[in-house]
Amino acid sequence: MSELHELSLTEQLTGLAAGEFSATELTRHYLSRIERLDPALNSYITVCQDTALAAAAEQDALRAVGHAGPLAGIPIAHKDIFCTQGIRTSAGSRMLDNFIPPYSATVVEKLTAAGAVVLGKTNMDEFAMGSSNENSFYGAVKNPWSPDCVPGGSSGGSAATVAARLCTVATGTDTGGSIRQPAAFCGITGIKPTYGRVSRWGIIAYASSLDQAGAMGRSAEDAAHLLEAMAGFDERDSTSVMDAGPDFTSLLTADISGKKIGICRTYFNAGLNPAVEAAVMSAAKQLEALGATLVDVELTMADHAIPAYYIIAPAEASANLSRYDGVRFGHRCDNPADIDDLYKRSRAEGFGKEVKSRIMVGSFALSAGYYDAYYRKAQQIRRLIKEDFLQAFQQVDYILGPTTPGPAFAIGEMVDDQVAMYLQDIYTIAVNLAGLPAISIPAGFTGGLPIGMQLIGRHLDEAGLLNIAHRYQQVTDWHRQGPALEQEANHD
Ligand code: GLN
Repeated sequence: MSELHELSLTEQLTGLAAGEFSATELTRHYLSRIERLDPALNSYITVCQDTALAAAAEQDALRAVGHAGPLAGIPIAHKDIFCTQGIRTSAGSRMLDNFIPPYSATVVEKLTAAGAVVLGKTNMDEFAMGSSNENSFYGAVKNPWSPDCVPGGSSGGSAATVAARLCTVATGTDTGGSIRQPAAFCGITGIKPTYGRVSRWGIIAYASSLDQAGAMGRSAEDAAHLLEAMAGFDERDSTSVMDAGPDFTSLLTADISGKKIGICRTYFNAGLNPAVEAAVMSAAKQLEALGATLVDVELTMADHAIPAYYIIAPAEASANLSRYDGVRFGHRCDNPADIDDLYKRSRAEGFGKEVKSRIMVGSFALSAGYYDAYYRKAQQIRRLIKEDFLQAFQQVDYILGPTTPGPAFAIGEMVDDQVAMYLQDIYTIAVNLAGLPAISIPAGFTGGLPIGMQLIGRHLDEAGLLNIAHRYQQVTDWHRQGPALEQEANHD
């Protein structure tokens, strides 16, 4: 039998059900890998050794009496933006370094009820603002494929930990690309569902009209199992989609003949790395060989997505982050002279540079006199972007393209160039503005680094995206490859 961490989620479930190993053994195995390998990666902010072992023992006991949930005993990591009762939830910020939530997010509750065992909380860009994980108060995360490179962001810790096999699957959130871009950089599969598919209750808010939680795993099949347990209507989230219990796994192997896959030529412009272009084109041919039809589509508004996003997201962030005032929870400065001093110094000390810059941009865009020029205009562009996609989806069922303009970049390479960093999300951001579902899947390598491709679908068609991704993964093995961490650790 392969090593436990090489098994897929479904193989682990089968092994657990057959009694080949217990949830406790599986959990111990991952905890010892984390102890050995994570100091070099920094993918976890908090490791929950004791509670994980207690939860695993409980799952073993439940299984023994015939009460195994759909994810019973599966080791999972949560991005440190999901509130976890009794476990520090920092959002990668000094502001929340001391925050221990009194409740858990709906997603965490649902996954725990399904039997998943929480190994820990993963590193992330502060308040999910970033594309490299370099904005974390807890330090940068290393890409498991190359320690000099970033893992992407903001769910960089979740992507790195799945790629390094330091958990089976992980949760992430995606406001403008934060599941898909790190998934592409780390060679894993990440799905950002339709806005409203997964409850946002208990997730620390960045830009509420764009934030959406999703699943990260090594394969579409693993991600489908995770997403199925996370998704569903939640009356505590006012933007939750009212839909019957979603089924993302039963269609995985369905025939994809006749599905129309759109290729948008403007995605393949001068800014795209040629190796990424070649990988996506060759994947398109493989999907054609599986029965899909390739169709050219136009997305005329694609160029306007980044400017619109960087008005809307900071505007919402400036409102959401106003609650961190040093009074009720979070960081509080020492010896404030008066209430103004308390607010100012607590926020000045608690927030990092990128977060402060976004609060300033957002407050400016919302201020009287500028609201119409910036915020309203950005919202109008947002509507046009959505219409652009809806029009394309009258001709095709899916749109295929690159997830990112290139593979993972070097740590430090873009820290002084905010615009270059923002352009990392050029292919992902429009999807959030339109509220659509999209998945990033490994599609090749260049210079030893993974390449990801993105498939965008119609609203609520996560099952279709996962189906195409799974069929592609049945005939390719990019998603099976893993980084050579063990050798590196042994050389030390
Ligand atoms: N990189 C984008 C940003 O910094 C998207 C981040 C995200 O999806 N959370 O806002």
